[in-house]
Amino acid sequence: MNPLVQQLYEQRTLPKEQLLLLICEEQYENDLRLLADQVRQKHYGKDVYIRGLIEISNYCKNNCYYCGIRRDNKEIERYRLSREDILECCETGYHLGFRTFVLQGGEDGTHADDWLCTLISQMKKQYPDCAVTLSLGERSRESYQRLFDAGADRYLLRHETAVDCHYRYLHPSELTLKNRMECLFTLKEIGYQVGSGFMVGSPGQRPEYLAEDLLFLQELQPDMIGIGPFLHHGQTPFKDEPNGDLHMTLRLISILRLMFPYALLPSTTALGTLHPQGRELGLQAGANVVMPNLSPTRLRKLYSLYDNKISTGEEAAEGKEKLIKKVEKAGYRVVTARGDVKKEGV
Ligand code: SAM
Repeated sequence: MNPLVQQLYEQRTLPKEQLLLLICEEQYENDLRLLADQVRQKHYGKDVYIRGLIEISNYCKNNCYYCGIRRDNKEIERYRLSREDILECCETGYHLGFRTFVLQGGEDGTHADDWLCTLISQMKKQYPDCAVTLSLGERSRESYQRLFDAGADRYLLRHETAVDCHYRYLHPSELTLKNRMECLFTLKEIGYQVGSGFMVGSPGQRPEYLAEDLLFLQELQPDMIGIGPFLHHGQTPFKDEPNGDLHMTLRLISILRLMFPYALLPSTTALGTLHPQGRELGLQAGANVVMPNLSPTRLRKLYSLYDNKISTGEEAAEGKEKLIKKVEKAGYRVVTARGDVKKEGV
């Protein structure tokens, strides 16, 4: 076993310069994967948790330069699910064995707290054994509190990059890293299980920024960490930028597993889009969550964050049997459970 990888395993951290080596150099990949898999098996066995992803709206008031549903993309058809549509997705998902529903969407101004609270209460009433995860961007403390009081259990909000100048390169000036980070700490204070994360290979990213991302996550101590490759979208300012690298993403998943042994780490749709075996490779690198799509089939292509997004086959909730087989082939098993984060010593 490489001594640097062993050191990360034992100490759960390393100085920035050494993290940088593990991130950048392929020679560490095998050892990282082997130890990361051991750690994940120690805490979570072979279990892979599934989350039913419901993309509730592709309207967004933000204009992030990388994202296909940004406000200035006038070429996409916009949609918004009704409460009834969303509850129908939950019903389908529940019967398929999903025990977590993730409501994700652009920052849609019509999603007022009252509307969301009514929806969340209905979901919790109808499916008391299920967790509700939200991924609806930046909101006020009061709003996060109300949604939590209505029954939301978890919140996903990637910090995107922990380096201020890079954040400014990826976003227009009305969005700030300071606010994004404050939102994350607020969500934690309120009591949500919190997820953060970043894109690998986003335009302007330098390897040392990725080391900063890891160090920021160490400060935040999130319960869930979602990372995936940046993938370009033809109707954004970054349309000609290259996609993120598969192997760097896999090394980072393994590093995250060693730094955060208890974290819930999804093997993301972006990884599955980048490479036909991306999802399985992500699991083997240390991930233990997949989030198949439960949105109405006809709308999935419209939630286009990047080009060529996969949304059928094992990516789709109704393709669960295919997913089960693929996960088994990779050496793991899909379980029907809420899949809350496990804590040290519990
Ligand atoms: N609006 C919410 C938010 O801001 O967190 C949730 C939706 S947002 C589209 C979800 C995530 O998609 C972002 O955090 C970002 O990391 C990812 N994403 C957006 N565009 C992407 C791209 N071109 N390639 C890869 N991931 C992308």
